[in-house]
Amino acid sequence: MRKSLLSVLVLAAFGSGAANAAVTEAMLENAAKDTKSVLTWGMSRDGQRYSTLNKINDKNVNKLVPAWSMSFGGEKQRGQESQPLVHNGKMFVTASYSRIFAVDTKTGQKLWKYEHRLPDGIMPCCDVINRGAALYDNLVIFGTLDAQIVALDQNTGKVVWKETVDDFKAGYSMSAAPLIANGLVITGVSGGEFGIIGRVEARDAKTGKLVWIRPTVEGHMGYKYDAAGKAVENGVSGTTGATWPGEMWKSGGAATWLGGTYDSKTGLVYFGTGNPGPWNSAVRPGDNLFSCSTVAIDPKTGKIVWHYQTTPHDGWDFDGVNELVTFDMNGKRMGAKADRNGFFYVLDAKSGKLENATPFVKKITWATSIDLKTGRPNYVADNRPGDPAKSADGKKGKSVFAVPSFLGGKNQMPMAYSQQTGLFYVPANEWGMEIWNEPVSYKKGAAYLGAGFTIKTLNDGPIGALRAIDPKTGKIAWEVPNNAPLWGGVMTTAGNLVFWGTPEGYLKAADAKTGKELWKFQTGSGIVAPPITWEQDGEQYVSVVSGWGGAVPLWGGDVAKKVSFLEQGGSVWTFKLAK
Ligand code: CA
Repeated sequence: MRKSLLSVLVLAAFGSGAANAAVTEAMLENAAKDTKSVLTWGMSRDGQRYSTLNKINDKNVNKLVPAWSMSFGGEKQRGQESQPLVHNGKMFVTASYSRIFAVDTKTGQKLWKYEHRLPDGIMPCCDVINRGAALYDNLVIFGTLDAQIVALDQNTGKVVWKETVDDFKAGYSMSAAPLIANGLVITGVSGGEFGIIGRVEARDAKTGKLVWIRPTVEGHMGYKYDAAGKAVENGVSGTTGATWPGEMWKSGGAATWLGGTYDSKTGLVYFGTGNPGPWNSAVRPGDNLFSCSTVAIDPKTGKIVWHYQTTPHDGWDFDGVNELVTFDMNGKRMGAKADRNGFFYVLDAKSGKLENATPFVKKITWATSIDLKTGRPNYVADNRPGDPAKSADGKKGKSVFAVPSFLGGKNQMPMAYSQQTGLFYVPANEWGMEIWNEPVSYKKGAAYLGAGFTIKTLNDGPIGALRAIDPKTGKIAWEVPNNAPLWGGVMTTAGNLVFWGTPEGYLKAADAKTGKELWKFQTGSGIVAPPITWEQDGEQYVSVVSGWGGAVPLWGGDVAKKVSFLEQGGSVWTFKLAK
């Protein structure tokens, strides 16, 4: 009693600043309207990446100049895919090798830095990247490449809690920004190339204690945790043995590596899931649920309410991790997803019922269309890589040339939705791959692919294109081509603007209605991260992280050779209008 009275008095005396500093569920729910902060990955939890700010607009964006830039320093650089957060005069930005910085938003001065101590032998598939943090209470929370989750004090950078999510030696890692919903920090796992078991898990954001775990491979048991931290069975995901042959579900992949979105109107969190393990589809006949899907989970119960599988029985590494962005259309709450497999899907966000699916890339070889009645792809049987067991020596199945490549029509770079134009802005790529299957068996901590591949260009022209898509029709309203594959995300604003970065190093702005390029700035290294905007002291700011890397240089085959001239880096840039 006495203690709580004291707390009240302390709050009354020093409270207004402290109360404003603590991030609450109400503040996160209001994030889209709060133009002074960027409180979550996606800029709002529905993932729209839309700002109502219009001080910077299509008339004056040509006067945008740097306000400050801060280097991540260190000898190690590599890919920088992070979306910064802004709160209470501080920017929180993660960097390669599981680092996080707090920066003064006004001056760009570093306030503190936390460098996670990474053990030898971490196994990130696709560069040593991190995509951002989450804010809750007085904490800033992020996942690390050795599969830990760390919560730091926003003011000091001191560790408040730290939990091990899983065994990095088995291939688990974490690179996505955590999601906060109703006081829970909700995360996925990376490691789909190592036969891990994908899952979504929720923890008490203040303490890090587990609340529930929901596996995303059909057949695995879900758990809830009681007050003492004891695991209680919470129902199997799907039905054991229904869509996987034999024991294959025990190393089934379906990694939830891009994190999730949340919509309070549906009360659901949405996580995409990656490829089934192994890539060689000949050894796992069946749909292999819940791989290459969007799963909608009730955060209160930790149960899957619906799932929609974009690529059943995937044979091309078409991870279905892409973010489901919820939005209003025709009086309903819908979800849109630009999938790695080349199709743009619009679903009922409450039920998961497919409304529409249209190509957002020019060439797709593995399916002709999506059947809107069944929700399933109309496959091109000849474009599935062959069964090695049917080859002469049993070592290499029939090779096919498939489009898109496994790096996808779209990959990790998040799209944006404008409430002003009603258009989605999708960073898309046109490329293909030679791909063939090989025999493989699961071994802990070893690559679990059973496939060989080379990524190839389709022609001599641009690979990337920023495309504006009308979700009502699936039609492409305009596009801005880009020579290198686009790998950064997009933001759109009520100033009739779309912002995005390019591997060539430019942050660009275009007219959101027409795609006419209005401004660009060279950041000194490739941009593979999404921009943000906020206002402070009456001025609007735009920030983006610069630092070339990610999956393209590592996995990109002939395309990687084409862009090998791009230089690494590691910095955050902030812009405002010249006075
Ligand atoms: Ca994958």
